[in-house]
Amino acid sequence: MELVQTAVKRFDDYRQFLDDEVAGEIQYLAGRLKGKKAAMINATAFGGGVAEKLHSLVPLLKDLGVELDWWVIKADLDFYQVTKLFHNRLQGQEGELSSAAIDIYLNYNRKNAAALEYWDYDFIVVHDPQPAALVDYRKDGGRTRWIWRCHIDTSTPNPQYWDFLYRYIRQYDATIFTMRDFVKEGTSLNNLTLITPSIDPLSPKNIHLEREQARGMICSFGVDGTRPLISQVSRFDPWKDPLGVIEVYKIVKKEFPSVQLALVGSMASDDPEGWDYLYHTLRRAGEDYDITIVTNFNGITGLEVNAFQTASDIVIQKSLREGFGLTVAEALWKGTPVIGGNVGGIKLQIEDGVNGYLVETVEDCAEKVLTLLRNPAVAQHFAAAGREKVRREFLTTTNALQYLRLFNRLSGFDAGSPLHEKEAPIT
Ligand code: UDP
Repeated sequence: MELVQTAVKRFDDYRQFLDDEVAGEIQYLAGRLKGKKAAMINATAFGGGVAEKLHSLVPLLKDLGVELDWWVIKADLDFYQVTKLFHNRLQGQEGELSSAAIDIYLNYNRKNAAALEYWDYDFIVVHDPQPAALVDYRKDGGRTRWIWRCHIDTSTPNPQYWDFLYRYIRQYDATIFTMRDFVKEGTSLNNLTLITPSIDPLSPKNIHLEREQARGMICSFGVDGTRPLISQVSRFDPWKDPLGVIEVYKIVKKEFPSVQLALVGSMASDDPEGWDYLYHTLRRAGEDYDITIVTNFNGITGLEVNAFQTASDIVIQKSLREGFGLTVAEALWKGTPVIGGNVGGIKLQIEDGVNGYLVETVEDCAEKVLTLLRNPAVAQHFAAAGREKVRREFLTTTNALQYLRLFNRLSGFDAGSPLHEKEAPIT
């Protein structure tokens, strides 16, 4: 396994976003862990949401005094091919689990487990299925508390894959899922904990930009900074429904001829389906110059995503299916009103009619866009309520607090309920 280096983050820089009581609890719980050591283990140091989150969480917990190492497992291409299958099939895709795949998966887990012999951590947090079988090779005699953090939607998994993985995850002392809905019915796991993903308010993607500054930045992509703009920031994927968003825009355009649409998406060079869907979307947009479609290949980095989310009058996330939908939290954090599909984790973030709208259809979505464009006061109210919701529930500091509570509880210290406040125990 390889140790990952992270940049320095200072808890003090985050205090501006926290209520005193919460900041106090974070410091108190971190203080009680003095002398204890923790490790995070995942499959990659760069690329993907898990690595991005750990680059915020790990240095923040370290600055709070938690002794914490972040390790990534070492493996070759055949392992990642197998675990990509695990990923898709645990999210419901059909297909057989072959004995060859099991061999490859276990072989790399066993090899990586060699390092465990020299470890004396109090907590080991293993992220996602790739390293999940490491627990089978634990050599700590039960002293170390093992935690499995699942970042994927396992609500309706392929049974063969789930049954295989279940052998390992039931050995963990605690498990963390994003939402209750992601935990398959009939599952019996130790110390089940729910933790939603979070955003880092000090990352380039979420740092404060003035609206004028943001409008200036997006002008270079062909957007007219003086006219209304609706945007969706998402991969080009059928589940994100960019074609539906174009239909929404066309309906709105009839009543608001000045409106513009931006579709901002990241592309992976090795994802042919994503490229196909981008071309499909471009064809649907046709020659309408008020539709801007841009990707990382046009120079969209985190800061430009930030600029689009900040400069838009309305952000749409019209997903037909969604794990959590980080783009929703990101846009709400910028005080931009959001209209989201009534699915998955978007429902945890948007309270319909309170801090945004949840919609089912293109027509419904277009009607809500028109409502917000005609009623700036409602839009403003949603914006303030949305930002407050994110401040309380979806910042990286909340994520740190939830880990600290779990570590405290597993150390036998009193630290609140194992589940999200609104949830009841599953087993
Ligand atoms: N994203 C980005 N550049 C883009 C489009 C998306 O950096 O051009 C980011 C977006 O800001 C968010 C993440 O990719 O942080 C997507 O996460 P989300 O949970 O919304 O959807 P997923 O792609 O994981 O299904």
